[in-house]
Amino acid sequence: MISRRNFLIKGIGLSSTIALASSYSGCSPKIDRRETLRGPNHTLGHKLRTGTFPKPTQIIKTEVAIVGGGVSGLAAARILKQRGIEFRLIELEDKVGGNSHSDKNSVSSYPLGAHYLPIPGTYDKDLLSFLEEENVITGYENGKPTYNEYYLCFDPKERLYINNHWQEGIIPVNGVDRKSTEDFDKFNELVKKFKALKGSDGKEAFCIPLHFCSDDPSIKKLDTITFEFFIQQHKLSSPHLLWYLNYCCADDFGGTISTISAWAGIHYFCSRKGSASNAQPDAVLTWPEGNGWLVNKLMKYAVKETTTNSMVFQVGYENGKCIVDYFDAIKEESIRLVSEKVILATPQFINQRILSGTLERKIDYAQFSYAPWMVANIKCSNHLEEKRGERLSWDNVIYGSKSLGYVNSNHQNIQLFSDRQVITYYLPLTGADSNAERKQSHQRSFKDWYELAIEDLKLPHPTIEHSIEEVDIWLWGHGMIRPSVNFISKTSFDASAPIGQKIFFVHTDTSGISIFEQAFFVGTQTAKMITV
Ligand SMILES: Cc1cc2nc3c(=O)[nH]c(=O)nc-3n(C[C@H](O)[C@H](O)[C@H](O)COP(=O)(O)OP(=O)(O)OC[C@H]3O[C@@H](n4cnc5c(N)ncnc54)[C@H](O)[C@@H]3O)c2cc1C
Repeated sequence: MISRRNFLIKGIGLSSTIALASSYSGCSPKIDRRETLRGPNHTLGHKLRTGTFPKPTQIIKTEVAIVGGGVSGLAAARILKQRGIEFRLIELEDKVGGNSHSDKNSVSSYPLGAHYLPIPGTYDKDLLSFLEEENVITGYENGKPTYNEYYLCFDPKERLYINNHWQEGIIPVNGVDRKSTEDFDKFNELVKKFKALKGSDGKEAFCIPLHFCSDDPSIKKLDTITFEFFIQQHKLSSPHLLWYLNYCCADDFGGTISTISAWAGIHYFCSRKGSASNAQPDAVLTWPEGNGWLVNKLMKYAVKETTTNSMVFQVGYENGKCIVDYFDAIKEESIRLVSEKVILATPQFINQRILSGTLERKIDYAQFSYAPWMVANIKCSNHLEEKRGERLSWDNVIYGSKSLGYVNSNHQNIQLFSDRQVITYYLPLTGADSNAERKQSHQRSFKDWYELAIEDLKLPHPTIEHSIEEVDIWLWGHGMIRPSVNFISKTSFDASAPIGQKIFFVHTDTSGISIFEQAFFVGTQTAKMITV
């Protein structure tokens, strides 16, 4: 079998294991460095679209089958394990974690996708108890959790490169005119109002997980207009504010103010109700490997039960039992799971292909749009040339860039000195037509991605190329769901409806917001509900 990695070595001439002389352009320095272009297993994914699979040669009976080992599937597994319910988890990739998985090199662990978790609100009891189990929460003071200082993002947290200068924080201040300042003030007033707002049902207008949000139609109607329209209605037009809002929409949705709904946009700013005895409400938890750290903690609940390198190609219902057929790519054979219940922790573009045609579902698959993302982990010397201003922070953002800038993976390392560092550069592909973006992104070579990233990074670090030793590029074709107009209130709501109390859907695209808290909540609640 040709893996994605081998395909790249054969097809494009990249190597994942050996150093290559780099000589891309006349101006690039010729130095040896390790270069990789990777992504989810396309060979298996492609087989799902075109291939036929061998008939199952084995039948395994189990109580619950979980399909997909991302955060939502792993959260479900944790509950089943704690409740002593027999289950199996089938994962397509060679390791679990989905968009939150990580890797490491000789200097540091680093994220390949998700990299932080904001401290949760005290109403998110399941998440708090998991964080307690893992010693992320070390105790409580006056009802507020005390967080382990090693996992709270150290100072300095964030800086913005603007007007040839690094300023503190990512809201533009340096060189910003009066109109911009006024617009930011007006927007902050709106945020304050919506943060405090409660619906006619007494529930918070905006919070996370989404299940705690009010269903008041006067609030939910914000899902019927774009965030851009909402901004225009409030006469906010300063380029600095618009840049900032687009940056935030790219961060959580891989979108822009024109492609996501006003409800989703406001949710980004108003849903976080963090509370801690030893940190600010907007504090974040992070690790060198990002949320890969959390994945590694969840993984332990499903070590024996997980089969990796295996793709589920059919889910059906026969004679009162659920049927899950999967192809084991290592053994090159198909196996059938027969279970009482199935938890599908896979995105809907996969479910559309694997659910047997006889199973009825009221869902419009065409409405599911996923933003592609490129993530580049760059190992370099820690003597990067810096422009004036604030020193290296955890999050380093470049004003006006299409990227989200980079996170310093070494930031949380407690080692006193290292002459190397790993920076994680994030580029969401936010174009309105995500299919076209995906197609184009799959045609790009390592060189194309490298040049895109370096052109951007050279603005604050002009000589960065001379410091680079390794570049590990990861491409997510379907990085995260985009909550476009009517998606959260209608499309994703329909997609979360189970089939006959037998087959359940927990992937974050059934919520419309792709973040850890949501994946964890839905996986946990579903596993609890089916085992009462
Ligand atoms: C670049 C990037 C950065 C992000 N940053 C953050 C962040 O900082 N904080 C945050 O909270 N969130 C972040 N996210 C969002 C992240 O997606 C969620 O936090 C969460 O990991 C989603 O989990 P999930 O279980 O819904 O889905 P996924 O992670 O998509 O998991 C689905 C799993 O199903 C498997 N699978 C698919 N098809 C099959 C099949 N046929 N058979 C078996 N298995 C299959 C996949 O391999 C995968 O493991 C980021 C996402 C991206 C792409």
